[in-house]
Amino acid sequence: MASELALESVGYRYRGGHDAVVGVGLTMAPGIVGLLGPNGAGKSTLMRVLSTLAKPTSGRVLWRGEDIARTPDVLRRELGYLSQDFGVYEALSAREFLAFLSAVKGLPSRTVAARVDECLEMVGLVDVADRRLGGYSGGMRQRVGIAQALLNDPKLLIVDEPTVGLDPEERARFRHLLAELAGERLVILSTHIVSDIEASAGTLAIMSGGQLRFHGTPEALMAQAEGHVWQWTLPAEQLAEARATLRISRAQRRAHGVEVRVVGDEAPAPDAIQVAPDLEDAYLWLLHRSGAQS
Ligand code: ADP
Repeated sequence: MASELALESVGYRYRGGHDAVVGVGLTMAPGIVGLLGPNGAGKSTLMRVLSTLAKPTSGRVLWRGEDIARTPDVLRRELGYLSQDFGVYEALSAREFLAFLSAVKGLPSRTVAARVDECLEMVGLVDVADRRLGGYSGGMRQRVGIAQALLNDPKLLIVDEPTVGLDPEERARFRHLLAELAGERLVILSTHIVSDIEASAGTLAIMSGGQLRFHGTPEALMAQAEGHVWQWTLPAEQLAEARATLRISRAQRRAHGVEVRVVGDEAPAPDAIQVAPDLEDAYLWLLHRSGAQS
């Protein structure tokens, strides 16, 4: 059966009654799926459910047709997970740390050394594999996080907000790495930053307020925003006021003022011109339409 993940009306309610995920239904096939949404949208909660760390409080999740709440081991054998709070043992080298995690994951000991080397190779850390993790940069630590998630050659790789705290260069590098890893795998990349998934995700799932607001291709999302994006140049001193009243997806300083892109039903000013939506505009428009904060 195809390595397919199906969510059927998945809901998650925290003790105390807060509904963090509400009736999410979608099917995912191999490739990169960008799970996008503002902070508090329910992404991490959903990632925990998909990685079998939490059971859905309503609905079900099927991996290759099997309910993961009933038979979590079927998925766990094929799952790699990089959580938001991934931490390393600073005193160990990357090689030692990955060997340790291989043992924890129950990988066959005779293959561990070779597999650790393969994973270090995939994430580009071979040259520094014997250095203490305490001396690694944020980006290097995240690559160790990916390496540990790859140890069991997962068919489902879940990565939660991987670029938080990384500088732009490290972020770009991380995005390339994930794109290379996709192939036959299903990679779910959760983020609140559009540019993290812009170049790589073939499919987007967008959440806000616990609900799925969009599922489809980036092109389909951009098509929805067609006719609702405007470009306008205004004097720099008016920018603060414009930000308070308009939905601005981007602002760039120019010689003659500030050029802004605005989403909305109507032109923000008579001299604003309609422009083709990009992904950032379309995302903002979707959140606006679904009544969510951006
Ligand atoms: P995201 O990952 O998109 O930022 P989360 O899944 O972390 O969203 O959070 C979704 C909602 O669930 C938020 O309103 C958050 O405050 C709430 N939440 C998260 N963790 C808990 C928890 N342990 N107990 C109660 N509410 C929680």
